[in-house]
Amino acid sequence: MPNDALDLPLLTLPTAAEATAPHLLIIYTGGTVGMVANHLNELVPMHFGELDRQLPELRRLPYRIELLALPELIDSSNVTPADWLRLARLIGHHYAAFDGFVVLHGTDTMAYSAAALGFLLEHLGKPVVFTGAQVPVGRTRSDAARNLLTALEIAAARHQPAGTVRLPEVGVFFDDVLIRGTRAKKVESQQFAAFKSENYPPLVRAGINLDFNDASIRPLPAAPLKVHQQLEEKVAVLRLFPGITAAVVEAVLGVPGLRGCVLETYGSGNAPTAPWFLDCLARAQQRGVLVLNVSQCEEGRVVQGRYETSARLTRLGVIGGDDITTEAAITKLMFVLGLNLPEADTRRLLSQDLRGEITV
Ligand code: ASP
Repeated sequence: MPNDALDLPLLTLPTAAEATAPHLLIIYTGGTVGMVANHLNELVPMHFGELDRQLPELRRLPYRIELLALPELIDSSNVTPADWLRLARLIGHHYAAFDGFVVLHGTDTMAYSAAALGFLLEHLGKPVVFTGAQVPVGRTRSDAARNLLTALEIAAARHQPAGTVRLPEVGVFFDDVLIRGTRAKKVESQQFAAFKSENYPPLVRAGINLDFNDASIRPLPAAPLKVHQQLEEKVAVLRLFPGITAAVVEAVLGVPGLRGCVLETYGSGNAPTAPWFLDCLARAQQRGVLVLNVSQCEEGRVVQGRYETSARLTRLGVIGGDDITTEAAITKLMFVLGLNLPEADTRRLLSQDLRGEITV
């Protein structure tokens, strides 16, 4: 998505909606949802006009819908932080004119993108729903229509009769469940239920009716939207495994200019107590690298200090990530380090809940 223009053309769908009906913007970034086979039988993104043709149901929805396609549609494996900044800017640019946003995105990195947008869009007061499909639109048994149509319904939802926004959050909607963006994880590449949140309940379940879990949804913000525009890319993820060598740990933590690292530890946040390992961590801390401790267990949380093997980490200045996912942890590191605050403030923000990504 190299083109940085914000005034990209909008395609208005001729729906039967009244002039006062919810006004929704679909932003198409690419992904399987809109892919077709090329001459080598590999899946590549198709043109957005085609997506509209494949989903005539869109035109029957009682909403005013506009479509915006990014100039370069991509497989989400090619997503970069620059794309997240761009998406955030686009949503900021169209924020006042629309009631809700649906982002069509590849599933592979959707959880990272949704978490990144969750951090970048501070004081979000409107729904931003990421969705996609495991089977391209137009194919028999595609999940595209079901995911997109319900995502639009969720993006349009209001409390009745007050008319206030029901979901002032970034979410991931897939296979009838909407998960908070900063909690989502892709857990499945073959079945339709591709996303899961192990440590936080779904915000919406779609059956015959939409069942909103209002008590778990963030409240409406008291301040206007703030679109952040900086992400620190000098970050890394280091996953521990029995047998990991000093050379590997040093290679990652010793990357020149590195500012932050997500350390994927065992169980409730445990790591080896071997002197070489602790020395590597100590040297990284001295160079100013902040280390965020995230568990390899999908359920449960990091409790530094429960075992001797994690108490050492606290003494070395490693920050406990609680029940955050790796996807949210790496994007939170990028976001918080991008704020360029004094170290004490950076540490404080990394250990506290910013967008519902950890359970306080
Ligand atoms: N490779 C695709 C992507 O993430 C997979 C998908 O969309 O399901 O763009």
